[in-house]
Amino acid sequence: MAGIDVGGTRVKSVLADSQGSVLLSHTASTPERPGEAVVDLVVATVADLLERASAEGVEGRLGAVGVVVPGLVDESTGSAAWSANLGWRDLPLRQRLRDRLDVPVAVGHDVRAGLLAEFHLGAAQGVPDALFVPLGTGIASALLAGGRVVAGSEWTGEIGHVVVEPDGPVCGCGRHGCLEAVASAASLGRAWRGLGRDGDAETLSRAVVDGDPDAVRLWHGAVDALVRVIAPVCAAAGTRVLLVGGGLAESGAVLLDPLRERLVHSLGHDRVTVTRAALGDRAGALGATLLAMEATA
Ligand SMILES: [Zn+2]
Repeated sequence: MAGIDVGGTRVKSVLADSQGSVLLSHTASTPERPGEAVVDLVVATVADLLERASAEGVEGRLGAVGVVVPGLVDESTGSAAWSANLGWRDLPLRQRLRDRLDVPVAVGHDVRAGLLAEFHLGAAQGVPDALFVPLGTGIASALLAGGRVVAGSEWTGEIGHVVVEPDGPVCGCGRHGCLEAVASAASLGRAWRGLGRDGDAETLSRAVVDGDPDAVRLWHGAVDALVRVIAPVCAAAGTRVLLVGGGLAESGAVLLDPLRERLVHSLGHDRVTVTRAALGDRAGALGATLLAMEATA
């Protein structure tokens, strides 16, 4: 099985055996805005993985390929509907790859596949009701309910563009005060520098630990905004574990503790855990491998 995660800056790929054990993995950089050439990119990545495998004496035949991409994805049709950064629209990715690779192909969404990996291999093992929220350049989400990753329409999980501060900072989507314009790692770094300070969200998180009042105000504003969007989702879905991922999760307890405190307060019960996702930036590629396994089942 090959699992490939085509991200905005890197293509991560893994080759696994039919039980899902990783045989080898590789990371390469993503060409700028590949657009429909993502098909060639995936085909070349698969060939490269197989070449590396044979060089290392790994035997076997490729059973299936799973590919995950960011943006809007329709898993039912295997269509990569839209990605601003990677430059495609309504690309029938699964069909194009099937034509080229001659094995079953699954196409998924990077964050939903990441949650699938966390459920089977990571921080949500054995927990059928979980919400995964990566906080990085942007903010997305994936919901596991009753042991299934929810994929309604291509817009599923797009919590980053829920408006939390109508007069807030402008977002990449052109509107003001979207959650990701207030609480993503990138926007927190911008807000920090906007106060004349140096550094990024990581610098900011250290200033929070040191009790810097400007830092504390920014940080708690972001936590409150996150909870305003996340709490109703957890309430509706009966979420037991909130998995926080992305660059901001690396700040650890300085983020997770106030997040849990505000979330418990908002939900009115304490049967929710807030924890860091376990698989880091490998989650997408591992999830892609799981999708490939499902494609052959
Ligand atoms: Zn937005």
